[in-house]
Amino acid sequence: MSETATLSRKADFPGLVTPEGEVWHYLDTAASAQKPQAVIDAMSRALGRDYATVHRGVYGRSARMTQGYEAARRRVADFMGAKSENEIVFVRGATEAINLVAATWGATRIGEGDRIVLSTLEHHSNIVPWQILAERTGAQIDVCPLTEDGQIDLGGLEVLLAPRTKLVALAHVSNVLGSVLDARKAAELAHSVGAKILLDGCQAAPRMKLDMQALDCDFYAWSGHKLYGPTGIGVLWTREEILDEMPPYQGGGAMIEKVAFEGTTYAPPPQRFEAGTPMITEAIALHAAVDYVAALGPDRLFEHEAGLARKLREELRKLNAVTLFGPEESAGIVSFALDGVHPHDLGTILDEENVAIRAGHHCAQPLMAHLGVPATARASFGLYSDESDIDALLRGIERTRRIFG
Ligand code: PMP
Repeated sequence: MSETATLSRKADFPGLVTPEGEVWHYLDTAASAQKPQAVIDAMSRALGRDYATVHRGVYGRSARMTQGYEAARRRVADFMGAKSENEIVFVRGATEAINLVAATWGATRIGEGDRIVLSTLEHHSNIVPWQILAERTGAQIDVCPLTEDGQIDLGGLEVLLAPRTKLVALAHVSNVLGSVLDARKAAELAHSVGAKILLDGCQAAPRMKLDMQALDCDFYAWSGHKLYGPTGIGVLWTREEILDEMPPYQGGGAMIEKVAFEGTTYAPPPQRFEAGTPMITEAIALHAAVDYVAALGPDRLFEHEAGLARKLREELRKLNAVTLFGPEESAGIVSFALDGVHPHDLGTILDEENVAIRAGHHCAQPLMAHLGVPATARASFGLYSDESDIDALLRGIERTRRIFG
């Protein structure tokens, strides 16, 4: 696994050390990634000697911050293979991106009797906004089944699609199982009945090369904090012709053209969807994060993490005491259950060994119901992970087994 050796960059990430100076085996990157020093420095500069607000300032520093904020938008557009930076709306995170689409495009384009297709493995943030919309409009939600090994079943999707299907909203990569969707095929199917497709790219953006033209989807959402950037910023990509027709999301400063009590007019996208003082410093730090990931090569990140996931599955299988969930070939996310041990107990014992995994429903309760478990243990890899993290996890699992006898 030579890729593993070259890619793991632990030294760039000050968060990978405990306050006592010990190595911290962080296996919860799917929840939120650690930050490289370059991102911390960019954020610190933006909050310090460069700080000023954007858009309204007539003084030089504000103009420079505005340039920095807009440069971040251009960088993200380039990173995603967007046609133009006007297709990039900065939001608080993927959750807000999906809520924005539901509250604007959804509220005007989806009505009583229309159908929205989701899948069994979706994160709550790609379920609940659609349920709220369905409650308000009388639309119906159809749930696409999974294949036996936990991938979205595109045959099942084809069967569900109907003339009244207005939207298909699916995870590009599952945050629980690591399953990778054939997104292009899903888009083709959705479009064949005239539906739009939204991809929840939270787990794909940090580890796959994104190309909005090749994917041919309609909406794409992701969160900066999972791509080694700061919290509080995420991205909604939509094609310009769709954005143009979307009504405002929130009202306030910066999203208007002219305000009068007789009637207010709105700014063109993307500003129309960015009411209020935006996430200035977060956007600038996100720019640094995108630079960092792009320099390493997203495709290589996928291979690196998928290789670690493969290795971990192999080692766990040897224990003969583990149930593995999800497909053999997956992104760097492995969900499992250790016989006779609650995932929370495992997580607590591993913590004593400086190993951080996630234990719980991972905001995917319908998937847990489908798997027939209340929770799973999940180890997820990042670009800084390597085999030493797997070894530490396995040592911790062995200790847990001894404790539980
Ligand atoms: N979708 C997926 C697949 C996720 O993994 C997550 C975060 N766990 C989200 C959506 C929500 O992201 P955020 O909380 O950053 O808005």
